[in-house]
Amino acid sequence: MQLIADLHIHSKYSRACSKNLTLPNIAKACEIKGIDLVSTGDFTHPAWFEHIKTELKETTPGIYSVKNSKTKFILGTEFSCIYKKGGKCRRLHLCVFAPNIETVGKIIQKLESHRFNLASDGRPILGIDAKNLLGLLLEIDENIFMIPAHAWTPWFSVFGSYSGFDSIEECFGELSPRIFAIETGLSSDPKMNWRWSALDNIALISNSDAHSLENLGREANVFNLEVEKTPNLYAEIRRILKEKDKNKFLYTIEFFPEKGKYHFDGHRLCGVSFKPKETKKLKGICPVCKQPLTIGVLRRVDDLADRAEPEPKNKIPYKNLLPLKEIIAAAFGIGDKSKKVEAEYQKLIKAGKNEFNVLLNLNAQEIAKISSPEIAEAMNKMRNGEIKLIPGFDGEYGKIEIFSEKEKGPKKQQSTLF
Ligand SMILES: [Zn+2]
Ligand SMILES: [Zn+2]
Repeated sequence: MQLIADLHIHSKYSRACSKNLTLPNIAKACEIKGIDLVSTGDFTHPAWFEHIKTELKETTPGIYSVKNSKTKFILGTEFSCIYKKGGKCRRLHLCVFAPNIETVGKIIQKLESHRFNLASDGRPILGIDAKNLLGLLLEIDENIFMIPAHAWTPWFSVFGSYSGFDSIEECFGELSPRIFAIETGLSSDPKMNWRWSALDNIALISNSDAHSLENLGREANVFNLEVEKTPNLYAEIRRILKEKDKNKFLYTIEFFPEKGKYHFDGHRLCGVSFKPKETKKLKGICPVCKQPLTIGVLRRVDDLADRAEPEPKNKIPYKNLLPLKEIIAAAFGIGDKSKKVEAEYQKLIKAGKNEFNVLLNLNAQEIAKISSPEIAEAMNKMRNGEIKLIPGFDGEYGKIEIFSEKEKGPKKQQSTLF
């Protein structure tokens, strides 16, 4: 059985997050999306932890659900560590998972004893070395695990060009073997990471980092797991990631990395963006304002990679997907927030079970039958990667064109797709 998991999301108590992010709402949204397992997010926040304790019941060791929902929750959170090491200021975001509510209670106690302010944000800022934080967590429980979040983003990540390190070892020292997975983030995909041999033994996972219900599952992980036959699902997921078990970890679901906010280098306010090669020619300086350009993820991977070409051997495969609403919007040639898109989305979800089932499993004929040939064609183009990508840079999301201007022109006569 396929189990789709989104292991990094936020609650309504994290900065810039939707007020709708409550556990019952998340559970319901996951059913519509087709997400089977989702992180609670933000478990060190006092009010959110109370909400977790009130709403969630343990269904199998380490896995919880809310009343009347089949969505499963795993206890997860994210920390923002800001500290000095090696004469540089480091800013890292780190996902952390706990095996049960009791352990979360101990984590909170321990962090409070260090006088960290957990109430200020769902993703609290801790002035502690990432390695020391990991050590402190493992002292509480060996089954806790840490996964560096969006590992390549320039300002807040383990390999970030402005904030991070040049290797896992430089950051985590003797605790490096305890880091067995990283999150590739929206602006990078597994293929880019396959160019760096240092990551050959690291599982590459993908999550939404959603700040709203709409964004849940925009990236995710697909496992081959029989939930009923797995006595300890938490331990099993940890094991699969730790051992990079290819029989159980089937693939990741990815954005197109160009769509991420930090794929290329550039300056948002100056309206300029560059490929790594062009930035090198410019010596990293913006031709408009003459200040250093914000270096993106592609360039950073380029700097650390030790292979010219990705090495796909022994790697977990992946699929690039766009959210269904964007596909519908492109097919109609209108904005994805419009009523017409919403109506068509509801129609597809109703007939197609859930969003991931429509995106991953329905063939073009089935989609055309439920909705329209244009949407089926847009879906085909996405699945075949026949789309135009305008890479994001310096905090600006990239853009995707499914139909070119020419195709959009006088409505195509050819509806003979099938
Ligand atoms: Zn996050
Ligand atoms: Zn500039």
